Amino acid sequence: MGSARTYYSTLYQQNKVAIVGGGLAGLISAILLQKKGWAVTLFEKKQFPFHRVCGEYISNETLPFLNRNGLFPQDLNPENIDTFQLTSLNGRSAELSLDLGGFGISRYSFDNFLYKKAIAAGVIVHCNTTVESIEYRDDDFILKTSGGDHNSRLVIGAYGKRSRLDHTFNREFINRRSPYVGIKYHIQIDHRPGLIALHNFKDGYCGISNVEDGKTNLCYLTHRDNMKKYGNIRDMEEAVLWKNPFLRSIFRKAVFVFDKPEVINEISFETKKPVEHHVIMAGDAAGMITPLCGNGMAMAIHSAKIVSEWGDKFMKKEITRDKMERGYAEEWAAEFSTRLWTGRQVQRLFGGEGASNLAVNLARYVKPVAGFLVEKTHGRVF
Ligand SMILES: Cc1cc2nc3c(=O)[nH]c(=O)nc-3n(C[C@H](O)[C@H](O)[C@H](O)COP(=O)(O)OP(=O)(O)OC[C@H]3O[C@@H](n4cnc5c(N)ncnc54)[C@H](O)[C@@H]3O)c2cc1C
Repeated sequence: MGSARTYYSTLYQQNKVAIVGGGLAGLISAILLQKKGWAVTLFEKKQFPFHRVCGEYISNETLPFLNRNGLFPQDLNPENIDTFQLTSLNGRSAELSLDLGGFGISRYSFDNFLYKKAIAAGVIVHCNTTVESIEYRDDDFILKTSGGDHNSRLVIGAYGKRSRLDHTFNREFINRRSPYVGIKYHIQIDHRPGLIALHNFKDGYCGISNVEDGKTNLCYLTHRDNMKKYGNIRDMEEAVLWKNPFLRSIFRKAVFVFDKPEVINEISFETKKPVEHHVIMAGDAAGMITPLCGNGMAMAIHSAKIVSEWGDKFMKKEITRDKMERGYAEEWAAEFSTRLWTGRQVQRLFGGEGASNLAVNLARYVKPVAGFLVEKTHGRVF
């Protein structure tokens, strides 16, 4: 009897996967791995549903994958987006039609939809639970969490752009300060259906596009010096963002749905390693693309697909841990490195007056160049 119990508990132990973070990368890899028969536990430090700083435009490169896996949120009425508008500080504007396009949906609704899908698939989700450290010992992991210790055979780090865990791994980027601040609102305004607009201002840019239920997302990236200079968000917006006449008009007409905006600091676009201390990183934890490319969520979804394929092979004992780690890192680099690099270069075109005028002129008069940049910062349909 004792040996049967030991046998089954060893078997269960061998089936355990832990996922840290309940964003798109974490929730989707949890669903995929649970459906493949593994015992998945996901830890999320917040409670669903909740708002996140994000432009909430998802590239259509994700559509076949989401549809194949029953993860496209059709019933939530996402907005179809097919046109891109770029404006400069001096009020010039250019439009491009987006070959592939995308859809607009709030993270509040989409992440909550995926959370429910994960629960329905059988994933054990611990909300309000922070993972404080992850230790690899004797080919097994021990996770210390705010709700107690947990062990598992495979750990996926899907904890986003920045976490205390990055300090425990002593990752290089975490010790360098980053000047970027992200701010998001939901507003009500008559924003043209199907349009995603990117409005430049000094040292930043602001995206505007519709999400579900007649709401519009207004999300911008600014420099902390802008914040420091004006002391508070409202005064900074009036002094800096409103210099772009498009933004002035939008801010004046909009009805703001939130009492106060969602804000995040220290957004870093530096390179990271996709595997760290044997933890397989997915989504922003593996590398974050600049938001102006509108591709971070597609990358998080795509990396969840890749990580769950390599993780499944390892869990089935078809490959060693070493082979999984090397194989995942190579596939991750082949799929995402060029996109991240191009995103960093394109980011330099924004923020300064001359550079943003140049970007608008490029989009206006040299459409193939603008189309080329959109293509280089996006992936293929998967
Ligand atoms: C200003 C801005 C605008 C953007 N706009 C767009 C856009 O329009 N389109 C687009 O495609 N991308 C956009 N992005 C990028 C996009 O938001 C991210 O790429 C995407 O959210 C990454 O998903 P993720 O699952 O990796 O991480 P996240 O969605 O950040 O999820 C990580 C989760 O981990 C949890 N967590 C962290 N640490 C711990 C811990 N120790 N224990 C437990 N849980 C933990 C967090 O609470 C969080 O829920 C934007 C980003 C910014 C900053």
